[in-house]
Amino acid sequence: MSGLSPFSLPKQPPVILVADDDKTIRLLLREAMEQEGYRVVEVADGKQCLDAYETVKPDIVLLDAIMPVMDGFTCCKHLLQIARNNLMSALANFDTDSATGNTVISKLWERTPILMITSLNDAESVDRAFEAGASDYVTKPIHWAVLRQRLRRLLQQAQVYKQLEAANLALQQLANVDGLTGLANRRRFDEYLNTQWINLAQEESPLSLILCDIDYFKFYNDQYGHPAGDVCLQRVGAVLSKNAQKHHDLVARYGGEEFAVVMPNTHAAGAFHVATAMQAGVNNLQIVHDASAVNEYVTLSIGVATLIPTWESSPSDLIVAADKALYTAKAEGRNRIILR
Ligand code: GH3
Ligand code: MG
Ligand code: MG
Repeated sequence: MSGLSPFSLPKQPPVILVADDDKTIRLLLREAMEQEGYRVVEVADGKQCLDAYETVKPDIVLLDAIMPVMDGFTCCKHLLQIARNNLMSALANFDTDSATGNTVISKLWERTPILMITSLNDAESVDRAFEAGASDYVTKPIHWAVLRQRLRRLLQQAQVYKQLEAANLALQQLANVDGLTGLANRRRFDEYLNTQWINLAQEESPLSLILCDIDYFKFYNDQYGHPAGDVCLQRVGAVLSKNAQKHHDLVARYGGEEFAVVMPNTHAAGAFHVATAMQAGVNNLQIVHDASAVNEYVTLSIGVATLIPTWESSPSDLIVAADKALYTAKAEGRNRIILR
């Protein structure tokens, strides 16, 4: 079977968490499932199922409706709550783990299918199963062919969701990340600066922006070739990243050989300190640049600006201020930092 087909099963055998209080049924289920090539973990009630869920990380949960301690309906609701909580905490961390803007929209798909087994083939328990959030149901006595087909279908669907999730992440990557340096791209920079502007206008906290531009980079390309120029950009980008250590700092490739660092909740002194470390870091790379008029190595000119965002002003005011500072740094001789 082709591993690329969306309808092929994953390489690892899928793990099925079976919750049923009837030992004989569990045994029969295990035999039938293992014959299908699945790996089975058994528990005897809903409570045990919840306990096992996080460690087992099953691909599917097979849940008997009626069990002691905690029944299948209640367990199902709790399982969905776990998925919801995971989503919420992923959303809460959205800005922190997303310097490159990998949003968690894809996580919405992350939901383990739950197949409910009910011995009561009446409308009421079927409704209850779906209300509790079950993906599907089968009835007792178990019709093995039906169970097999439902399991296969649910697992295939889950696979498709996973592939969508991966595709979604890949698209976000393309939309937000600069291909050469791996830093945030201009689009992501704009989006992030706007978001932070709004946040900090509410908090009345400072927002700093560093703009860096490589000195005499055109000459560098002329002298060493465009591919060497690309490597230089990557190395400089890496140094900037290393020096923007605070969680909410965002380093972006702003233009060709220009980089921008967004620093929320950062005063001018803090931003200047970071800019100094960045300048020193690039100098320490000692990338030979014979065509530079200021230094034997590649250097940066840096403009730093800080504002407390307000509703009357806009992010472009901050960009203009940093850009003016950068222009001054160039005009005053390059390889220096100007704070505005
Ligand atoms: P200054 O000190 O005033 O900044 O001079 P400069 O030569 O660095 O500035 P200028 O804006 O004249 O030139 C920028 C150069 O950056 C020109 C362009 O070929 C080069 N560049 C832009 N993007 C890339 C890239 O992705 N790879 C490479 N290798 N070079 C690039
Ligand atoms: Mg330049
Ligand atoms: Mg430039």
